Parts: sequence; C-alpha cells; structure tokens
Amino acid sequence: MLNEKEYLKVREAFATPSKVAIIMHKSPDGDAVGSSLGMKHYLEKLGHTVSVISPNPYPEFLKWMPGTRSVIDFEKTPTPANQAIAKADLILFLDLNSLKRIGDLEKAVKKSDALRIVIDHHPLPEKFADIAFHDAAASSTAELAYDFISMLGDSKRIHKDIANCLYAGIMTDTGSFRFASTTPHTHDVVADLMRHGAEANKVHRFIDDNNRDIRLRLLGYAVFEKMKIFPEFATGIITLTQSELKRFDYKEGDTEGLVNEPISVKGIVFSALFTEQKDGEIKISFRSKDKFDVNQFARKHFNGGGHMNAAGGRSDWSMDETILQFLQLLSQYKTELQGK
Ligand code: 5GP
Ligand code: MN
Repeated sequence: MLNEKEYLKVREAFATPSKVAIIMHKSPDGDAVGSSLGMKHYLEKLGHTVSVISPNPYPEFLKWMPGTRSVIDFEKTPTPANQAIAKADLILFLDLNSLKRIGDLEKAVKKSDALRIVIDHHPLPEKFADIAFHDAAASSTAELAYDFISMLGDSKRIHKDIANCLYAGIMTDTGSFRFASTTPHTHDVVADLMRHGAEANKVHRFIDDNNRDIRLRLLGYAVFEKMKIFPEFATGIITLTQSELKRFDYKEGDTEGLVNEPISVKGIVFSALFTEQKDGEIKISFRSKDKFDVNQFARKHFNGGGHMNAAGGRSDWSMDETILQFLQLLSQYKTELQGK
C-alpha cells in the first residue's frame, strides 16, 4: 500500500527516537481509540515519546484500555493538546479520511510542519498527509495498524497491551466479526493478536458487559417506545430527544449500537438513529445492508459520511423537521431500498 519511497520514509522516521502526536477523529469509537492506543504502545516500544489526542471526550466503556489515562482531551484541556502538536516531529492520524473530522484541532495541525502519516479505512480519503496507509476494504483502522506494524517487520514486537487495544478496535468496528467487512485476513490478524497476548474474552466483557442498568433501560425504552418501522421502505428509525436522554441519565456512548436494532428486524435494510444534542443539533447514525450506500446518503443529505454500510451525519433543523425531511427522502429512494 506504500510505494518504496514512502516505505523508506516511514522507516527513517521511525528509526530515531522522536516526538509523536497521535490524533483520532472526533467522538472517537472503539476503532479510533483502540488503534491510537495500540500505535502509542508500539511507538513507545520503539523508543519514541508519544502523546495521544482526542478532539473531545470518549465513552466510558473504552476507558479500560491500557494507556487511556494519558489521552489528552482537546475539548477539556486545549493547551497540552496544542503543545503536543507544536512539539511533534511526526503526527499520526488514525481512523479519519479528512481533517474536518478532527474539529478545531485542525488549526494546530495546520501550523505544524511535522511529517504526517495517516492510517485509515474510510472511503473517499482526502489528501492531507505526506504518507497514507489506506485501504477502504479493511475491516478497521486497527486491522490496518497491525498490517502497518507487520509491514515494518515488527509483528513479533507486539505485546499484550498493543494486542488488546488492536483487538478491541477490530472487534468493535466489525460488530464482533459479523459485518461484511470481516475477511479471512481479519481473522488471521486477530489470531496473531491472540498469540501475542490479546485477551479476547476479557475485551468482549470489558466492552459488552459494562453497562449501568439505566443504560439498558434507555435502550429498552428506545426500542419499545421510539422505534418506527416502515416496511414499504425497508427502513427502521429511532429518535431520542434531549429530555428523553436526560430522563435516563445519558452518558457519552450510551446509545452505541442502538442503531443496529431496527436493522435486525427481518426485511429491514436501512436504519437511522436520530439523537438531539445539548446544543439542539440532531446527530444521525445510519446503517444499511448490502447495496444501499449510506456513505453517499449521509454526504448528500446530512453533511456527513462514513462507510457504505455505516455512516453518520447531522441536521441543524428540529427533530420533527429532520424526520419530515428524512421521510420525504425515503420516498425518493423507494426503489433502491426495495432492492429493485
Ligand atoms: P456512528 O454512527 O457510529 O457514529 O458512525 C458510523 C461511521 O460513520 C463511522 O465510521 C464514522 O467514522 C462515520 N461518521 C460518523 N459521523 C460522521 C460525519 O459526520 N462525517 C463523516 N465523514 N463520517 C462520519
Ligand atoms: Mn474505523
């Protein structure tokens, strides 16, 4: 995936101890945090000094990962984040295909003349780095991080902390190895991570069995009271307003996975979760099955993007207006949704 010149440049950059800033995308998920912390442990093993920066807070259920306490939250503490970027010889971007995905951190990045490397699997990447290790067919950025380490001949250096972080990234982005993006290679990578100390059962329990009971009540409420199925469009949606989220003591990450519920209904190929944010913006998660391209849908209509079968976007309109617009769009896409 890298040409000879790029490969040599990476080797050279990694050969001498340097200051590295790792930046993940806004509202980071398991893949963003797992690949970032996995690469941090790997680069530290090579002797580099590494700062990991997240544009904003990430969910509690990812905070068991080794190294999690060292992550700088730019929203909470912008100064150390800006300093780490200003000092960096190398900036490594993980799990993002556009600088837009890092929000206001972009300003500090633009001022820096550090070498920029990106490892990512989102389609339609923009060119913002000197070196891009990119494959839109890869299951996850964490899988690509493993490939990157192994390209450098270092897979034998993978230790338990690296392995657990990368395992968590692959597991979360593949829906526990069930999405269409999961390949034989994904399983080969996971097998090798387990040989190098990944504790699969423990990671699944940390991620899946870590609920506050009120979170399960929120999920139950959302499915029972708020899920609407539109069989004629093979579509299901869930909406959650701020007052509903408050009622269930909503914390970052509590609605993770909820968008997969409507799409688990027989015959449904498209699902959307609309959540009202504190500032009134409506955040939308899209999922699809087979050929319905939610990346294009989110880009075209909701100022977002992502992958063919998993994407996100936003709307500045009210919840009711947003749903009205969405329902009108469903009529437009009716034939595609019916798979005709
Ligand atoms: P989620 O629904 O889990 O928030 O996001 C699903 C996928 O869509 C993720 O791969 C994420 O990176 C991508 N995504 C979510 N929101 C946005 C957005 O606003 N812009 C872009 N380009 N991608 C997004
Ligand atoms: Mn990812």
